[in-house]
Amino acid sequence: MVRNGSWGPFSFHDIHVIHRRDFVVPPQSEPLKTDKIVIAKDLSRTFFLGGLPVKAIDNIALEVGAGEFLVLKGKSGSGKSTLLSLIGGLDRPNSGTLSVSGIDLSQINPTQLARFRREHVGFIFQGFNLLPTLSVLENIALPALLAPTRAQDPYEKAWQLLALAELEPRAHHKPSEISGGEMQRTAIARALINDPALIIADEPTGNLDTKTGAHILNFIQELNQNLGRTVIMATHSSDADAMAHRILCLVDGRFTQTACEE
Ligand code: ADP
Ligand code: MG
Repeated sequence: MVRNGSWGPFSFHDIHVIHRRDFVVPPQSEPLKTDKIVIAKDLSRTFFLGGLPVKAIDNIALEVGAGEFLVLKGKSGSGKSTLLSLIGGLDRPNSGTLSVSGIDLSQINPTQLARFRREHVGFIFQGFNLLPTLSVLENIALPALLAPTRAQDPYEKAWQLLALAELEPRAHHKPSEISGGEMQRTAIARALINDPALIIADEPTGNLDTKTGAHILNFIQELNQNLGRTVIMATHSSDADAMAHRILCLVDGRFTQTACEE
C-alpha cells in the first residue's frame, strides 16, 4: 500500500538515515492513564468519490482494552482498512474523537503523528510493504533507525527479532529472495522493533496460502499471548476466530450486532 508517497508507515525520504548510528538514551514513553489502549467516540471518515460522499467509517464508538486481541471482520469495502488507518494514525477522522495509547490523535500535528506511528504502533499489511532494496535485517531495523532515541542498538534488536521470527538464515537476503511467509515474518519482526504496545494487522494472511497463513496467525497470537501486545486485526476469513478475544463485524462503516456473514 503506497499512500501519499509513503510506504506504509515510512516515507521514502526517511531512507537516507538508514546507516545513522548516533543514538541517544530515550525518555520513557508516558504510561497509559487507562487500561483502554483505544477509545473512539462518534468517529467518522468520509471520502468523496466524484463529488459523492462515501462514509467509510460512519459515526462509530470503539474501546479496545490493553492486551486484547480484537478481530475486525466485514466484507470488502466495509471499512476495515479505513478504521485501522485511523487507529494507527495513517489517516485522520473527519469528525469524532480518537485516543490511542493515551494520545489524542485529533490534537497532534503531522510530525507528532509520524512519531506516534513509529513509537506506539507496529503495522502488518497484506502486501508486506518491505523495502525491496534493503535486506531482511535492514528492513527489520528500519523503524528503529528512523527513531534515533532508543536505548538499544537497532541492529542488535533486529538480530533478536530475526531469531524470534526464525529468519536468521535469511538476514542478508533481499525480500525478492525469500518466500511469502518469510516476507510476512520479516514484516512482523519489523513491526516489533520499536516495542509498540499496539499491533495493527490488515489482512495479514491475504497473500498467503492456507498453511503459511495459519503459521503467521499463530505467530501473531504469540505476540499477544507471550509478549502482551494488543492486536487489532482485520480479516474477512474465519481463520482467526478461535484466537480472538472479541470479533466485531463492520457493514458499511458501522458495527453490526449480528455475526458477520462469510
Ligand atoms: P475494507 O478494508 O473493509 O475492504 P476500506 O476501508 O478499504 O474497506 O474501504 C471502505 C470504503 O471507503 C470503500 O467504499 C472504499 O471504496 C472507500 N475508500 C477507502 N479508501 C478510500 C480512499 N482513499 N479514497 C476514496 N475512497 C476510499
Ligand atoms: Mg481492507
